[in-house]
Amino acid sequence: MRIAEVLLPLAVPEPFDYAAPDDLALKVGDQVVVPLGPRLIRGVVSALRESPGHNRPLKAVADVLDDPGLPASAVEFVQWAARWTLSPPGDPLGVALRGLRAPPPRAQVVLRATGRAPARPTPARQAVLAALDGASPASAAELARAAGVSSGVVKGLCEEGVIETINVEPAPRFTLPDPDHAPAHLNPSQKAAADVLKTLIAQGGYRPVLLDGVTGSGKTEVYLEAAAQLLGDEPDAQVLVLLPEIALTQAIIARFQARFGAAPAEWHSAVPPPRRRRAWEAVASGEARIVVGARSALFLPFRKLRLLVVDEEHDSSFKQDEGFVYQARDLAVARASIEGATCVLASATPSLETLRNAESGRYEWLRLSARHGSAVLPDIQLVDLREAPPEQGRWLSPPLVEAMVQTFARHEQTLLFLNRRGYAPLVLCRACGHRMTAPDTDSWLVEHRYTGRLVCHLTGFSMAKPAVCPQCGAKDSLAAVGPGVERVEEEVRSLLPEARVAVFSSDTAPDGRSARALVEAMANGEIDVLVATQAAAKGHNFPKLTLVGVVDADLGLRGGDLRAGERTFQLLAQATGRAGRKERPGRALIQTYLPEHPVMQALAAGDRDAFVAAEMAAREDARLPPFGRLCAVILSSENPAALERTAQALAAAIPNGEGVEVYGPADAPLALVRGRRRKRLLVRADRNVDMQAYVAAWLARVKAPASVRVSVDVDPYSFL
Ligand code: ADP
Repeated sequence: MRIAEVLLPLAVPEPFDYAAPDDLALKVGDQVVVPLGPRLIRGVVSALRESPGHNRPLKAVADVLDDPGLPASAVEFVQWAARWTLSPPGDPLGVALRGLRAPPPRAQVVLRATGRAPARPTPARQAVLAALDGASPASAAELARAAGVSSGVVKGLCEEGVIETINVEPAPRFTLPDPDHAPAHLNPSQKAAADVLKTLIAQGGYRPVLLDGVTGSGKTEVYLEAAAQLLGDEPDAQVLVLLPEIALTQAIIARFQARFGAAPAEWHSAVPPPRRRRAWEAVASGEARIVVGARSALFLPFRKLRLLVVDEEHDSSFKQDEGFVYQARDLAVARASIEGATCVLASATPSLETLRNAESGRYEWLRLSARHGSAVLPDIQLVDLREAPPEQGRWLSPPLVEAMVQTFARHEQTLLFLNRRGYAPLVLCRACGHRMTAPDTDSWLVEHRYTGRLVCHLTGFSMAKPAVCPQCGAKDSLAAVGPGVERVEEEVRSLLPEARVAVFSSDTAPDGRSARALVEAMANGEIDVLVATQAAAKGHNFPKLTLVGVVDADLGLRGGDLRAGERTFQLLAQATGRAGRKERPGRALIQTYLPEHPVMQALAAGDRDAFVAAEMAAREDARLPPFGRLCAVILSSENPAALERTAQALAAAIPNGEGVEVYGPADAPLALVRGRRRKRLLVRADRNVDMQAYVAAWLARVKAPASVRVSVDVDPYSFL
């Protein structure tokens, strides 16, 4: 008997066995329907095997779906991702099939004139033909409305053959990219890097590469040229570019379009589901040769993925922290290895993990030496806020204000970077000191003035700002404490009343279109001062931007987790790196209370290597990543007693292991989220330990009650 192993989108650890009827001629990757209890559900065949002596009665696969199957390598990747993240394979499988949730876009019917003249050109009929000129109405009723006649007139014209209905393509076909459309002239440093990359790609097989160059050095041009050669050489090769932010996908898509004369497929959560389905199918059929997307694009059903680029590879947005928890950069390297593809990790400030791999020779290390052309890196100065404090109730120091005034006078642009949405991060009662917190979550409510609401950034809970303090009843006593981008915008407007000021955050640019509009307005010089969170501080080129002001450089260092220093360095190097992209030199002012901190010193001196060396040494001493491995186990429950019991049971069941320690259980810093109490345990393991096997064996020893959720975060980035 032939047996099909079928992956199901459920929280089960293994594929299920089904009998494989011969007439279905199943293959690995086929999407099938199988019985599960009384239901029929969708699954994907992950393996087929012969079982001569099988005597267990098995239910049979009911049917094969028409939807395209997953390539065998994509199925292998789903299973690898599940093992690595200690998740049920149903989790990555769900991501891989997400594109199929929506129906394909339906063919659209439109009316158009055939060119034949009507037998009786009455005024009503002429009005219809006039209304049709240049328009594409979808129905007779719509056309009749536009012409101000009854739909009978339109029907008469249709019957007579004066008007016809035609089907139009619902979503654009993916035009073939033309590698020779608009080649770049690379500078010598870029050319050297691109040549190595092209050779590696042409040789074939899995090759991880770090493409390392300061902001503006032209890394994008290098991988565009490498992609061009690949697309020209291999008529069916596919390229994937992963980006950390939806706002950045727009800019990169535009550059691909300019380079190849054809738009790549776009893949992220803001793409409407029917278009996503179109893209999914085009990737599966091989029609889409280039995909630009956010992290989940990694799970698309590529037929022949040959080049995978992770741009801004250090960015912590590649870590998905909710639901299926995974680090897309790490999984990208794994997918490249399964596909036998070249994997380019590009960054001006690579993660310590990637730098370690480059230093040890596991990754090829390509470096671009300087900014492209005449552009130079900005001059970076620290502003010691203890010596040059802003005025009472203000956030911009006198040196930064002066620099802004000069920049505005020269008709150049300023970017003020503050990684905090909203107006103020805390609302406090001046009468009794009460802090406004979310009702079911341990977090302060953030005031948003545009909407007049207090918002919990963790859960999305929001409420109107109350007129009286809910604690003591004092009237008009609630005060905003600290700055968010909206408050900095208010300050800029009062300082430079003539300037055109805009805010760029996930509130003002929630989707691709609004983000693109803001980026374009900035690039075209229609904005003088842009106040931005990290959504705009990365990747973009704004030619007239010559001043970057970092409002609160110390923000990310507070609460100091493992990567606080590294992340602050990366974020501020990116933000300050926006200044001075073209011939005008730029400068950056960093406001800090900690000017002697190694991160601030490294930024001011432009000395990444010294910072990396010190940070590496500290991590090695503590045997933390990249010199050791971490895994968090997070317990949560609405029932505190059950939570405590499970935590104790897990603590008692910790296996002995060479080179492994477990810390906790302890209350999580965010001890209450959406009404659930939370506790954490943290595993630290040496690099040679199979941490996943250790954790899986440990968790298998304890059966948590249904009221307690146990989630596992391999290589955690958040410790809250
Ligand atoms: P990075 O990705 O390293 O930050 P980009 O690839 O975005 O750098 O390049 C920075 C700017 O310089 C862009 O505007 C880009 O178009 C321009 N540029 C880079 N290399 C070239 C080149 N060889 N020819 C023309 N323009 C270039």
